[in-house]
Amino acid sequence: MRKKIVAGNWKMNTTVPEGVELAKAVVAKAAGVPSEVGLVIAPPFTHLACVAEVLKGSGVGLSAQNCADKEKGAFTGEVSVDMLVSAGCGYTILGHSERRQYYGETDDKLVTKTRLALGAGLSVILCVGENLDEREQGRQFDVVSEQIKNVLYNFSAEDMARIIVAYEPVWAIGTGKTATAEQAEEIHACIRKVLADKFGAGVADDVTILYGGSCKPSNARELFACPDIDGGLIGGAALNADDFIKIALSF
Ligand code: PEP
Repeated sequence: MRKKIVAGNWKMNTTVPEGVELAKAVVAKAAGVPSEVGLVIAPPFTHLACVAEVLKGSGVGLSAQNCADKEKGAFTGEVSVDMLVSAGCGYTILGHSERRQYYGETDDKLVTKTRLALGAGLSVILCVGENLDEREQGRQFDVVSEQIKNVLYNFSAEDMARIIVAYEPVWAIGTGKTATAEQAEEIHACIRKVLADKFGAGVADDVTILYGGSCKPSNARELFACPDIDGGLIGGAALNADDFIKIALSF
């Protein structure tokens, strides 16, 4: 049985003290979330070690938002997978559209980063999704299938046990526009089919596929009711502990 997960991507928001307070608020409310729903938060790099202390014993997972594509050495400003593990992370987000768009994250780079992350023992939340032009041209299935193939077809069925996919239509991120449940479900089903073609139906069936893009308490229930939507990657609404937990209670 695949896991249900609600993950919060804090992006470049909160100072360290604010982040610690937000993490404490999430932990305080996490006890009310059924045990079959995994909670993960992804604060900025600077917060990770402090937030890890707050999360100890809570069952809430800690994720980075990115990692370096190199192991170690003279790469000023980069953060390695070993650093993330030593700071207490169990996950890293990779391939978020903001990184693809503003920081030149390519599928090739994501293969390297995913390999390093898995090698260090991290689980990977791999983001995919089409932009508005691509959707208007009706290319969403092709774009997302290519992103999945370009990255994940380089890995093994065993590796897939530590891969979570997040479908995030770029036109829905931070815009207030959410994909309808039908639009999201048909892409999730397509992702599962692309995974099944390579790894077999059993493996594909066990992969958690999250929806991301203006997911909030008012629309989470309808999205999470879809058969191939296993939770959410939450941006803006994850900056409010009440909203984040309400979303986690929407299954
Ligand atoms: C995200 O950035 O991963 C995201 C889903 O953002 P938002 O929920 O704010 O659209």
